[in-house]
Amino acid sequence: MKSSAQVVVIGGGVVGASVLYHLTELGWTDVVLVERKELTAGSTWHAAGGMHTLNGDPNVAKLQQYTVGLYREIEQRSGQNCGIHMNGGLTLAGDRERMDWLRMAQARGRYLGMDMEIISAAEAKRMFPLLEEQYFIGALFDAAEGHVDPTGVTRAYAACARQAGAEVYQHTWVSDLRQRPDGTWDVITDSGEIHAEHIVNAGGLWAREVGRMIGLELPVLAMEHMYLITEDMPEVAEYNAANGHELPMGMDFDGELYIRQEGGGMLLGTYEQACVPWSPRETPWTFDQQLLAPDLDRIAPSLEIAFKHYPALASVGIKNVINGPFTFAPDGNPLVGPVPGVRNCWVACAVMAGFSQGGGVGLTLARWMVDGDPGEDIWAMDVARFGIWASLAYTNAKVRENYSRRFRITFPNEELPAGRPLHTTPVYDRLTDRNAVWGASFGLEHPLWFQRPGEEPREDVTFRRSNAYPVVAEECTTVRERVGLTECSNFAKYRVTGAGSADWLQRLFTNRLPRVGRINLTAALDPDGHIVGEFSVARVGTDDFFLFGSQIAEAHHSRWFGGHLADGVRFDVLGLSLVGLSLAGPGARDVLQSVTDASLSTEHYPFMTFRRIDVGMIPAYVGRMTYTGDLGYEIWVAPEYQRALFDLLWQAGQAYGIGLFGFRALMSLRMEKAFGTWAREYRPIYTPVQARMHRSLKLDHDFIGRAAVDAELARGPARTLGYFDITPDPAEPADVVGDEPIWHDGAVVGWVTSGAYAHYSRRSLAFGYVPSELAVPGAMFEVEIIGQRRPARLLPEPVLDPAGQRMRA
Ligand SMILES: Cc1cc2nc3c(=O)[nH]c(=O)nc-3n(C[C@H](O)[C@H](O)[C@H](O)COP(=O)(O)OP(=O)(O)OC[C@H]3O[C@@H](n4cnc5c(N)ncnc54)[C@H](O)[C@@H]3O)c2cc1C
Repeated sequence: MKSSAQVVVIGGGVVGASVLYHLTELGWTDVVLVERKELTAGSTWHAAGGMHTLNGDPNVAKLQQYTVGLYREIEQRSGQNCGIHMNGGLTLAGDRERMDWLRMAQARGRYLGMDMEIISAAEAKRMFPLLEEQYFIGALFDAAEGHVDPTGVTRAYAACARQAGAEVYQHTWVSDLRQRPDGTWDVITDSGEIHAEHIVNAGGLWAREVGRMIGLELPVLAMEHMYLITEDMPEVAEYNAANGHELPMGMDFDGELYIRQEGGGMLLGTYEQACVPWSPRETPWTFDQQLLAPDLDRIAPSLEIAFKHYPALASVGIKNVINGPFTFAPDGNPLVGPVPGVRNCWVACAVMAGFSQGGGVGLTLARWMVDGDPGEDIWAMDVARFGIWASLAYTNAKVRENYSRRFRITFPNEELPAGRPLHTTPVYDRLTDRNAVWGASFGLEHPLWFQRPGEEPREDVTFRRSNAYPVVAEECTTVRERVGLTECSNFAKYRVTGAGSADWLQRLFTNRLPRVGRINLTAALDPDGHIVGEFSVARVGTDDFFLFGSQIAEAHHSRWFGGHLADGVRFDVLGLSLVGLSLAGPGARDVLQSVTDASLSTEHYPFMTFRRIDVGMIPAYVGRMTYTGDLGYEIWVAPEYQRALFDLLWQAGQAYGIGLFGFRALMSLRMEKAFGTWAREYRPIYTPVQARMHRSLKLDHDFIGRAAVDAELARGPARTLGYFDITPDPAEPADVVGDEPIWHDGAVVGWVTSGAYAHYSRRSLAFGYVPSELAVPGAMFEVEIIGQRRPARLLPEPVLDPAGQRMRA
């Protein structure tokens, strides 16, 4: 065994093997993989090996597409048979909502170049004669689906990596991990120690335990999962003889099951409602290529449906039942990337679909390690999307919810209930009393809208307009015509202090730093000029700043700032030690002025001022800005003052017709002002030039990514963020939700990033990226919304107050 290596990958399942392979592909060959038993000994060996490209997140779908396309190559290069069966796959829908979901998935796939076909139930029956047509109304057919041999694939990855110089040590258990002061690692195994620059936790079923070796509690939980294999069936033999190929795979939404041919019989798996976590607190190290006791009673309800949907199954014997554990993160997506706050420590775990995702996960992580950038938009998989709130018990609740909903639709306006409410601010009860409908983001409850008094605070889930629509319209009117009050604690807040802070931030930010007492908007870029983050910067002293950013990116951004920290500078994540309320609308100044001695006139407190003032008796930092684009203020206080602040403003606002508004109204209001948002318009795959962040980009100083910006400005951006006015279907209006394809002249040319109905302006609006040469004001496009291509006109400027007079009033 080597005594040192550049990278030690811990875990020889399909994911660890893929990471090893991809590291060597990118030129890092001094790499080793350490496996406590034999390759595949965790959850890999007993997997059903199914693979598909369909995923609700198009970026994850893209990585799945890459994975599926990789198998032939590694098979050929390694000489290891991967047992590839590319039979295509049907995703079957039994009702209109599921059909809508399939149409949307098909549409999202278009701009990724995925060629999937919507077919009728009769066509599905022709392709998959075992199904009973009456239970289905249609299906999505994807030719890029099939199944592989899990062991063959894992060995093929490892063999290709070995050919390139990597080493694989089996029967070698990593028992401890110790970091040296220089950030390198001593990897302690039962066969000796390896000194490594980087470690990768690909521990699969033991990823949590490997994390604990360095004091990390990863949000990962294993669930029991069952599938069964039938005896050979004459129907299968007949089909094979008549068609010369195997049956396609089937994913059956209503039945909550998947089905495929296995030899001469069928393999049937289900995500049962009565799901069971496995080893919820600690995975035993003694577990080794074992299966769990089957429990057919638990999956009996699914089997009953299966026998109705595929009647031939009812009369065939069961040859084998497999029950094995595999791991999930709270939202079902993998955990990938550098661990925030720990140098040279990477994870690639919680991969619940190793044969659809393993290749993409390996590629992403390897690029991140070698190039310093994952190369794709992998936010959905970033380990930093969870914070400390994702505890063991929270993870347990969310994973069970996620498992049991594996085949359920999560609607764009749906908020899932498990593990909530957990994280609340002091005004939570006040807002609940006023009929708030709550959502959760980065674990924190935030008000979406306020149901009318006496009505149930509940939103109907739908792809179209919900019962919130008329109420949100009223909230928007309140803001635009009188004054609205909302909570704004759901920003990430940071404080930067210490000598040299200003110089440090100036080097990171694309905008000049504001003067003391002022705020501005800025972006931070990577060296290639991609947007790392978007922030409001408020300066309260020469070297004293507050930064406000997207809350969901709090751990992601903290990791980035932490990685660039300069000597003498202190970077603090404020979390809920600073909470906020926001007043917006033409009456906002009157309300706030009535409770403070500070003069709020535009002369004394102009737009983009940020100062420490007293509001009533409450010490507050008050910024004159709101995301609504109206006259407004964000008032930041320590949490112990938030209730008093709420009562004070609410009381003072009565004379001005104050009303509450929530996140849905905010999204509607920001659309008519054409304000972009993090994770939608601004993501690490876009640049500030493409995103038209001109106001945040000042070319009078140097900053990380500056050269790339100059180069892009010189050659012109390939794509540009457009702002669209959409004509929805008048019979059944629906607005965009994000990721819809944008068509031009009969071809897909771009995609929507986000949008909403702008109630006050009475228009359905969207943002989306299109080729720059097409981004001409007035140009006509089409946006595909639930299977319909709707006209979309590119707008030259915000539909409301393009000169920004309201916020400067
Ligand atoms: C019944 C069943 C059916 C499934 N069907 C499918 C399917 O059809 N399609 C699909 O895509 N996915 C399927 N899966 C999921 C799939 O098995 C997983 O996504 C995949 O195996 C995850 O691989 P991994 O490498 O992350 O983890 P594992 O396979 O668990 O690998 C982790 C490895 O790390 C090793 N290890 C851990 N800690 C240490 C240590 N300290 N020192 C050394 N070695 C260590 C372990 O021994 C293990 O071999 C199924 C799972 C089950 C249970």
